[in-house]
Amino acid sequence: MEAVVIKSPGKAEFTQVEDPSVGPQEVAIAVKAAGLCGTDLHIYQGEFPASLPLIPGHEFAGEVIEIGPEVTTVSVGDRVTVDPTVPCRRCPFCKSHKEHFCRQFKAYGVSLPGGFAQKVVVKEENVYSIGGLSYEQGALIEPLACVLHGMEIVGVDPGEEVLIFGAGPIGLLLAQACKIKGASILAAADLFQEKLDFAQSLGVDETFCNSPALPKQVAERGKFDLVIDATGIPQVVEALPKYVKDGGRVLYFGVCPQGTQINLDPFDVYRRELKIFGTFSLLANFLPAISLVKKGRMNVEAVISHKLALSEIKQALELMRDRDSRKILLFPGELG
Ligand SMILES: [Zn+2]
Ligand SMILES: [Zn+2]
Repeated sequence: MEAVVIKSPGKAEFTQVEDPSVGPQEVAIAVKAAGLCGTDLHIYQGEFPASLPLIPGHEFAGEVIEIGPEVTTVSVGDRVTVDPTVPCRRCPFCKSHKEHFCRQFKAYGVSLPGGFAQKVVVKEENVYSIGGLSYEQGALIEPLACVLHGMEIVGVDPGEEVLIFGAGPIGLLLAQACKIKGASILAAADLFQEKLDFAQSLGVDETFCNSPALPKQVAERGKFDLVIDATGIPQVVEALPKYVKDGGRVLYFGVCPQGTQINLDPFDVYRRELKIFGTFSLLANFLPAISLVKKGRMNVEAVISHKLALSEIKQALELMRDRDSRKILLFPGELG
């Protein structure tokens, strides 16, 4: 089959690989649409721990084409998406419903072969039916599930004012999820005016162009109850406390390169009782994510900006690096 393989940092190839075989409790899926994520770019750039060589891609949907003999809940022909997380289910974290902290945590597209391929084989327990959703919507369930996990971690109360840095796909999903939770004012900051205009068309109330003048601008307008980073840029993350009210919350959602450092004034955190939250991956968020999309509460397809053939992976990575795209979807077969 054809697949994208990251052989070493900076080296991604669209190439021929052996077809994966299906174990007794596994399912083979013909991938129809796969989303390119910041994590894929970090893996490609050697900034995220991954098992190379690797077929990346942890956000994908497709059609079931083969099932193992012990599979009972999935059938050939099903339209599905996949929770990429593979915990061991035996360690103390797994046994206390914190599977994402599992010592042997693995994930399709990070440490196991992922969805940037014509075919992917996954465990039956990772498969979720998408019913009548499109494959493009199906490929966006994983990022939405991560967003819902972040919402659980940080909580949003009705009437709160939220500022999100980054009006890319994650920022836009976070914005919609905060609105569902009852946020009264949603603001987004980004470097690209076009992305901010688009965010406004999706219901974001206020937008700010990120510049050195922003802290003053926000101080005059009034600071926020919750400030979220959806950029993964250390300099942006470093500045977040400037925008949050006394007693407010900060959420690190974007993935900064591993090992980066930022300056934080502990006196400021102490005096203003700031609360800083991290959120990693997801935990049992797939069913709610699918339900929100099915009921039309979340417009996930709006965050798609580019659709490319899987063979155009290098172009896709370049587009992503330029940061003026939103979600880029890759298609192993027919373009959606
Ligand atoms: Zn992702
Ligand atoms: Zn475990």
